[in-house]
Amino acid sequence: MSKVETKYIFVTGGVLSSLGKGITSSSIATLLKHSGFEVGILKIDPYINVDPGTMSPLEHGEVFVTRDGAETDLDIGHYERFLNMDFSSKNNFTTGQVYLSVIDRERKGGYLGKTIQVIPHIVDEIKRRIKLAGEGKEILVVELGGTVGDIEGLPFLEAMREIKHEYGIERVISVHVTLIPLIRVAGELKTKPTQHSVQELRRIGITPQIIIARTEKELSKELKNKLSMSCDVDYDCVIMAQDAKSIYQMPLNFLKEGVLVPISRFLKLPQSTPDMKEWDSLVKRILAPQNEVSIAFVGKYLNLKESYKSLIEALVHAGANLDTKVNIQWIDSEELERNQELLKQLKYVDGILVPGGFGERGIKGKMEAIKFARENKIPFLGICLGMQLAILEFARNVLGVKEADSMEFNPKTKEPFIYLIENFIDQNGEKQIRTHTSPMGGTMRLGEYECQTKEGSKLQKAYNGQKIIKERHRHRYEANPKYREILEKNGLIISGESKGLIEVIELENHPWFVAVQFHPEFTSRLQAPNLVILEFIKQASKHNAN
Ligand code: GLN
Repeated sequence: MSKVETKYIFVTGGVLSSLGKGITSSSIATLLKHSGFEVGILKIDPYINVDPGTMSPLEHGEVFVTRDGAETDLDIGHYERFLNMDFSSKNNFTTGQVYLSVIDRERKGGYLGKTIQVIPHIVDEIKRRIKLAGEGKEILVVELGGTVGDIEGLPFLEAMREIKHEYGIERVISVHVTLIPLIRVAGELKTKPTQHSVQELRRIGITPQIIIARTEKELSKELKNKLSMSCDVDYDCVIMAQDAKSIYQMPLNFLKEGVLVPISRFLKLPQSTPDMKEWDSLVKRILAPQNEVSIAFVGKYLNLKESYKSLIEALVHAGANLDTKVNIQWIDSEELERNQELLKQLKYVDGILVPGGFGERGIKGKMEAIKFARENKIPFLGICLGMQLAILEFARNVLGVKEADSMEFNPKTKEPFIYLIENFIDQNGEKQIRTHTSPMGGTMRLGEYECQTKEGSKLQKAYNGQKIIKERHRHRYEANPKYREILEKNGLIISGESKGLIEVIELENHPWFVAVQFHPEFTSRLQAPNLVILEFIKQASKHNAN
């Protein structure tokens, strides 16, 4: 690879969290990519966990899985969805990982007895990882999690400062995303929190070049002037990020606000206009679609929908590509167990979706929904746990094996239709041994695996006739091949397999009932929707038309 001099755009957040730093970073990177640059993107998480794999989805939102099997922050999902690129474990790291590698090196004598300190050792390790993520890229966008002023963010800001010192303004700029709150009673937008946040950045030696001002109401010229003056940035460096209906509008809005002008000026990039034609027409279809379908989403983390982020976005992608609004009917699986009336409501939806999940809570309700889809011939897509439950529902209600169970819920079950395989071949072709006492983290089948599709199956049709498809995984349990024959004899088709593992099932005598062990939502992008999810929405539209 020829040595390119990577340029860096650091994105920090001020005032408060959840301002959309991930969407801002993705949008800037998207515009640069569409301008023809070789772009990379990195998320740094200041928390101590080594990865989000064992963090509760209720606390942290979804765990996103990359192709190479890393369990990462959900922002990596946004990056892939916006940039239509695959990222890897190199594109996300945490404080925990940084300390782990420094301490590991120290234990091995790698520092020759020196005193290990935050500066330089921790900061050097951070810089090393940032540079690694930028290797071979013309521009690397680096998003720093958390808010300026957080104690745990300091070593990362210091790393930023040092990289800037090393490479200079032509290679390193700082973009600060802040909130301009609206004081409703006065009807006024306030700039003071932004001024304070910029002061805090300056105190640690960082001067932002660009301010992204998140706001409910349009920023006036006067206000932009005030921000420009008080934050000491050029007028055209104050970029408004007004609340939008769809996150996919943001690259277009930033382009209109002229974000590329100061970026190109500082980084001395050749002038170019990004080609956003296709993007623009997809966004138009998100905002004003011709058709509608309603999908029942039967989950258990409904009070925190962030834990289904990729799947919700995948439905948006499918909808955008089919010019259809996908209306999600949120159905709480536990509520479904108690309330027969709610179950009957499923008659009015066009498709039923049972997503992945862990643990026993809510599974009865999910199985009720699956049974309803099967008996009432409603298009159905089951994902991961959704597939495992579809097999259990079939075993119990069609085969009459009442004790059919998953070892996840009942480790001693006599009928382990879903079981724990103790060894499997991982992505690198290596045999992995797993036991019931394996620790929580690191024992899952993770990342991309090939799946062979069955000739003539609904699955193969959904994937445009492809014989081999590649999708990502995150699960511990598997469908037990011991029951294969009895399932197949009774109308359940095994339509996808991966080296002997059952990956996809579907039903004969049903318009469209498909359940997959993998997570198709992880590979869905706005410009390249996942094909099985796309087909599910097509089938739901067909059901709607009938
Ligand atoms: N809990 C199931 C397993 O570990 C399914 C996981 C999932 O849905 N992601 O196999």
